[in-house]
Amino acid sequence: MSDLKRLDVQDDPALSPEVDRLLACRTRDIRLKGEVKRLFRARVWSQTAKIVRAWMIWVAMLDVLTLALNMLVLPTAVAQSMLLPGAIIPPAAIAVVLVWRKPRPSWLEGGSLITGMFLILLSVALVGVAAGGEFYERQLNVMLFVAITAIIIFGIPLAWTVAIAALALGLYLVFQVQNPAIEHGSAVAGTLFFASGIFATVAARRIMTILAQKTFLFELRDRRRVAELAKANDRLELLAKTDPLTGIANRRWMTETLEHLWGNDKRCLDGAAMLMCDIDHFKKLNDHLGHAQGDRCLVKVARIIQENIRRDRDHLARYGGEEFLVLLPGVTEEEAISVAGRIRKSIEAAALPNPGSRVSRSVTLSIGVAVQTADEATSPEQLQGKADAALYLAKQTGRNRVLLHQPDAAGRKHIRSTR
Ligand code: GH3
Ligand code: MG
Ligand code: MG
Repeated sequence: MSDLKRLDVQDDPALSPEVDRLLACRTRDIRLKGEVKRLFRARVWSQTAKIVRAWMIWVAMLDVLTLALNMLVLPTAVAQSMLLPGAIIPPAAIAVVLVWRKPRPSWLEGGSLITGMFLILLSVALVGVAAGGEFYERQLNVMLFVAITAIIIFGIPLAWTVAIAALALGLYLVFQVQNPAIEHGSAVAGTLFFASGIFATVAARRIMTILAQKTFLFELRDRRRVAELAKANDRLELLAKTDPLTGIANRRWMTETLEHLWGNDKRCLDGAAMLMCDIDHFKKLNDHLGHAQGDRCLVKVARIIQENIRRDRDHLARYGGEEFLVLLPGVTEEEAISVAGRIRKSIEAAALPNPGSRVSRSVTLSIGVAVQTADEATSPEQLQGKADAALYLAKQTGRNRVLLHQPDAAGRKHIRSTR
């Protein structure tokens, strides 16, 4: 799993309390650790690496340019004395660039950066030592300037920043103590003066890093909240589309499904059949056995219908009180009638009691079937109207039956009954 993907705090439940805890801290007390710290590093790595590489290339180019310029403007002996120590910078910088081309273990990244910085700072100082005179102190000041730019723009762990700052000050002190032009006392005083400046720079860098970490923590929290909201929305949407009693789709879901399947040209791709199923004398069941028993019956009927259709292709919805609509995409007339017959028989076989029914002692189902062929443009509403009409006739002609709605040759409708 990629680190960016891992930013989804939903994946790691332990992360959320830690993020909340850190955000509850005062900004200056924020200390990332463990997984959050690892994620933050992964998040900022490419930006940090880009800056480190660009800075290294910039320093190497500046070094080459300065050495070349010195050859033109300085006395040849002085310029030549600078060449050897100045030549340390490009390979050191390029080595760091190569290491920082892709994520490496922390020790390698930190080790290469600190070693590279040491060599670069040493080189700048040695150029001054080799040239001597006015260049001695000037190069040490340039070295501090170089170190300060690195401290400010490298978004690296604080320990590495402190190491770079300490290296710069250490080199400054060592070389100033050996500077024949100044006393030891003023070398130490100069080091202390610059140390206070560098300390302020490190502090500024630390604040920038903490602010970046805080932004990252906010991002983690936002992502979590968005994910929670999306989850809640999905759940709400499911609830809004589901019939709470039977757990199957409700009328709204079926309407959306029909619109989706039919598309714009009012034609279901491979044709389709609709079965409008209605429990016979259901009111009597309620009257004789009570509403609760009626509810249980509805749940069982829904389950039986569900068991008789294809789970992956067909759609079932509770369309009204004791009415169920089944959509069978891509079936022939014979297949639709066969499915409807199977449903009717299964309900009958389940022998759910309905003592008040005038059809049977147990629950029965009347089903109106309407079929649309692939080359016929019928809207879902029209197809449903036909299924309804067939159901109506099924009720009128005795209930507990399947009736097919079909246009006859003369354009008049007639209904085929099966029991
Ligand atoms: P028919 O054979 O003509 O369909 O007669 P019927 O009694 O089934 O139809 P009718 O439309 O007269 O009555 C439907 C009954 O369904 C009335 C209503 O009380 C009942 N009903 C609707 N929704 C629910 C429900 O959620 N739970 C229960 N227990 N009964 C319901
Ligand atoms: Mg009924
Ligand atoms: Mg009804």
